[in-house]
Amino acid sequence: MAFEGKEIWFAVGSQDLYGPEALREVAQQSKDIVDTLNKSDDLPIKITLKPTLKDSDSIKNFMIDASSRPEVLGVICWMHTFSPAKMWIRGLRELRKPLLQLSTQHHFEIPWDSIDMDFMNLNQSAHGDREFGYILSRMGIRRKIVFGHYTDPEVARQIGVWERACAGWDAANNMKVMRWGDNMRNVAVTEGDKVMAEEVFGTAINTWTSTELEQWVNKVKKEDVEAVIEEYKKLYDVDPVLLNEKYDSLYYAAQEEVGMKNMLDHYGCDAMVDNFEDLAGLKQLPGVAAQHLVQLGYGFSAEGDWKTSMLVRIGQVMGEGLPGGASLMEDYSYNFVSGREMDMGSHMLEVSPALGSAEKPRLEIHPLGIGGKADPVRVVFTAKEKKNVPMIIFTDQGDRFRFTMQMVDLDHPDGSLKVLPTARAIFKPRPDLHTAVKCWLLAGGAHHTCMTTNVGREEWEDFCRIAGVELNTIDENTTFDSWVQRLRTNDMYFHTTNIPSVA
Ligand code: MN
Repeated sequence: MAFEGKEIWFAVGSQDLYGPEALREVAQQSKDIVDTLNKSDDLPIKITLKPTLKDSDSIKNFMIDASSRPEVLGVICWMHTFSPAKMWIRGLRELRKPLLQLSTQHHFEIPWDSIDMDFMNLNQSAHGDREFGYILSRMGIRRKIVFGHYTDPEVARQIGVWERACAGWDAANNMKVMRWGDNMRNVAVTEGDKVMAEEVFGTAINTWTSTELEQWVNKVKKEDVEAVIEEYKKLYDVDPVLLNEKYDSLYYAAQEEVGMKNMLDHYGCDAMVDNFEDLAGLKQLPGVAAQHLVQLGYGFSAEGDWKTSMLVRIGQVMGEGLPGGASLMEDYSYNFVSGREMDMGSHMLEVSPALGSAEKPRLEIHPLGIGGKADPVRVVFTAKEKKNVPMIIFTDQGDRFRFTMQMVDLDHPDGSLKVLPTARAIFKPRPDLHTAVKCWLLAGGAHHTCMTTNVGREEWEDFCRIAGVELNTIDENTTFDSWVQRLRTNDMYFHTTNIPSVA
């Protein structure tokens, strides 16, 4: 329920120079625009029109108000007329919410035969939006710019995408990640600076012992476990063996889920990591428990990888209400057959059916070679085909965070995969496997990623702009040479201080 009770505030800039009659028209036209946008199905969060801003003090008060209210996720500014931008400076210094600069106007067509000085004077957002753009860029304020007539569905679509990114940013700033155990021994990429993460994203990442989790698992109520098993039966095709001779294993897997959820909720956490090397007295490495909790909206990643867990939670929030979802993914195996060059992603257990499955996901039990615990119960499926799906890795480069995004086309396997007892996704990276992998490796992209079939690249681009974090995307237009150049430029840019980062 990430969008419930949330608002986006709509600020209209003008000034007193035009007189009360003109300002009445400004207010009426602003209302038309907001009402029209709010009718679009593409906007998950309602836009609230605020009174027209005409002077420096009211602008400052507006920005302080918007910044301090938890229900306000972002601010849209549109200059109906000419709103001299020195009036905006003191307010913009106070703004701590994501900003969208909407450049639009009320009339669709220039009224060629009737336009006079009065009309031109009143309807001059082409003029006002430029003055506003100047002060934002001069002050180094990052924002999404949307341009077009407000009745164009593309305008609503872009605003809707940004609203989702605002919700993702809000989720990051309120996120608490529960770590059961530390990072997997000797693994580099899943490490990272948790202090910097809290500074950049507002996310608190802390540790609880696996022994405490074991206690939570041991004290669950029988009826809660049975309710979760009923939920599994609805969502998954449960192997009959789990309902008969292996029922105890199924019961314990569901018991783990209830214990994990109770402990997360008790401490107000909405994302988690575990580590198969540190399970205390838990009998199984959580499989279906982690997979299903992601379907419920929690973030999850394995092996102590809190950064990917954050991405999964953010992805689930941004994509609320959309088909598909977010999941941990891990590159495993290439297919070099000509014309079918692909990559297969999977994990030992925990890829979430939130992604969407080609068939009804199956709930199965199989041995697991590592970890030395009982056979874990897991959901097995192949992610369903979809074009242009983002796969994101969040790395700590030592001096800064970097997001690397790979656009892929989810494809089908060229065989049965009948003896692979784990969830997987088969994908063709853009622009092609060879270019994509070389670019990925050069960016320091490693094996754990977050795949999102609910939201696309634009939500992540908006999110990274809001966060002020480096993002590089491998897509159909990427060449290896352009990629080298981009990484070099970014290394220079992010090592140089005092550059206003408006882009
Ligand atoms: Mn892994």
